Amino acid sequence: MWGAFLRGTTARGAVCALAAAPLAAVTIGQRPRQSPKPLTDPARALTRSVVRCDDGVQLINVSVPAQKTDTEFSRILVTGGAGFLGSHLCRRLLAQGHEVMCLDNYFTSARSNISDLVGHPRFEFIRHDVTEPFFCECDFVYNMACPASPVHYQFNPIKTTKVSVLGTMNMLGLAKRVKARILQASTSEIYGDPEISPQVESYWGHVNTIGVRSCYDEGKRVAETLCFDYMRMHNVDIRLARIFNTYGPGMHPYDGRVVTNFIMQALKDEDITLYGDGSQTRSFCFVDDTVEGLIRLMNQEETTGPINIGNTNEFTVKELAEVVISVVGSKSKLVYLPLPGDDPKQRRPDITRAKKYLDWEPQVQLREGIGKTVEYFKSLDLRKYKQPTSHTAHKTSEDDVKRRISSGMNGGN
Ligand code: NAD
Ligand code: UDP
Repeated sequence: MWGAFLRGTTARGAVCALAAAPLAAVTIGQRPRQSPKPLTDPARALTRSVVRCDDGVQLINVSVPAQKTDTEFSRILVTGGAGFLGSHLCRRLLAQGHEVMCLDNYFTSARSNISDLVGHPRFEFIRHDVTEPFFCECDFVYNMACPASPVHYQFNPIKTTKVSVLGTMNMLGLAKRVKARILQASTSEIYGDPEISPQVESYWGHVNTIGVRSCYDEGKRVAETLCFDYMRMHNVDIRLARIFNTYGPGMHPYDGRVVTNFIMQALKDEDITLYGDGSQTRSFCFVDDTVEGLIRLMNQEETTGPINIGNTNEFTVKELAEVVISVVGSKSKLVYLPLPGDDPKQRRPDITRAKKYLDWEPQVQLREGIGKTVEYFKSLDLRKYKQPTSHTAHKTSEDDVKRRISSGMNGGN
């Protein structure tokens, strides 16, 4: 177990609105079926319609009861709540006055990440694996549990797929049973190695089913499918966020992600490890911005998503290294290592929908966010964190993957 190593939119702008039509009757490509049974609690009854929006993608227009707003006291389950994004969410939700149940198995996180929350009268930690069924009374579920760093999710790829598929199914089942609204933490990875930039939500992606990243990418794609099927079949009230690379205080110092590696290396004046030639791009969103986007998506009544949550400023990995060296004032030099298999060449979100439906866009730009993250890493007592096997991602390089496929070792033909 990794823990051991680590210690719709409204009709606004819609070209064609199929407003107020019963979902089953208007969902294209679906087998006709009976209308869902009316919910027993009329206060929670959902009304839905499908609209076709500007870019041709169908989104579900959802009307939900007024009590589901962020101003009223709610019981909120955050799976993966001890992790990087989850712990920030827990803090924000507690600050808003809600009761927070944080479910986690510490697979990629440490207790210390939420030690400030333990003892809070409205906070409860539940040690549980989302791949096993779980039931509790709650109004909202943020389904964040899943290893997110390539090094983490490739550690046990079969388990990674289980977390996305079984874990999401379990949480959707819970949401169905208690009629909670559920937000699924999806990812820009569902676009794979994109052929278009920026990536719009209507883009279906360019994803390898048998590569080293597939356990994460395809797991998250199935999780999206499950969300929409639970909505279509069982009226589950879903929200779908496609999160782009997020960084900030609270990251595990040995998570192997690029921001973490570069800052840790720069602070020690060690070589900065660029994978490939460093020309691949990412768009880095500061954690406070991402969490704000997630909460806004959960609390609005207009669309289920999918909605991209990310910063539109795109940097090459080499540019990121230069920013980190400059902010830290480090003497580190750049070194080049093999590019990991299936590493996407570019990533940049189109956030038109987030602006329109959530009135959201990132506020913190890279230099400022890196500065805050550097201060955080400086403040850590690294003796309390166990270093995993170092830099493993680049060891599954493009060449290695091709060699394995041509010899049939990677499941190729
Ligand atoms: P993280 O690894 O810091 O947090 C994930 C949390 O889930 C950890 O606390 C881990 O212990 C927990 N977890 C893993 N498997 C579990 C299981 N079987 N049962 C219960 N808990 C389990 O990662 P993060 O960056 O905070 O990501 C959180 C979510 O956001 C993930 O679903 C990830 O896919 C998604 N996401 C994150 C980013 C990003 O850049 N941070 C980008 C896109 C999507
Ligand atoms: N990367 C790098 N050096 C590192 C870690 C990562 O050059 O030490 C690259 C990696 O190959 C990818 C990008 O940085 O192109 C982002 O990697 P990360 O693991 O943070 O997440 P990803 O976006 O690939 O899921």
